Amino acid sequence: MLDVGIGMLKSAIEYKVTEAGGQYIEIPTQKVKPSQTCPSCGHQQKKELSERVHTCLQCGYTADRDVAAAQVMLNWVLYDSTVFGTSIVKRGEPSSTPSPTPCGGMAQLGSAKRKKHSLLDGILETPSSRSRVG
Ligand SMILES: [Zn+2]
Repeated sequence: MLDVGIGMLKSAIEYKVTEAGGQYIEIPTQKVKPSQTCPSCGHQQKKELSERVHTCLQCGYTADRDVAAAQVMLNWVLYDSTVFGTSIVKRGEPSSTPSPTPCGGMAQLGSAKRKKHSLLDGILETPSSRSRVG
């Protein structure tokens, strides 16, 4: 793997994901810290690599370490990043716009939802996603 280089690996993954109709999104893990962050409350605590279960000292949320890290990354894409042009929903803040603006991002989100149906269940149910224009 070191001979090929991590850049080549990323390019290959991006190519295959795009080819399969998916969307390649790179998470800034040094900033997001997926394995040290609680997906439920955002509390951060260092873990040893040998700790395979995430148990939050703040809120008590418990999940497999890898599942929790995946949830943190999904939360980042949906709520904190501007991957879809603009942050979809800021956590805990009511939407400042009365109606959603149509854009390609929601179509992409729809395909992501179909692929990760069980993971996204309930997360995408927001006040702004329920209302429709016209
Ligand atoms: Zn927590």
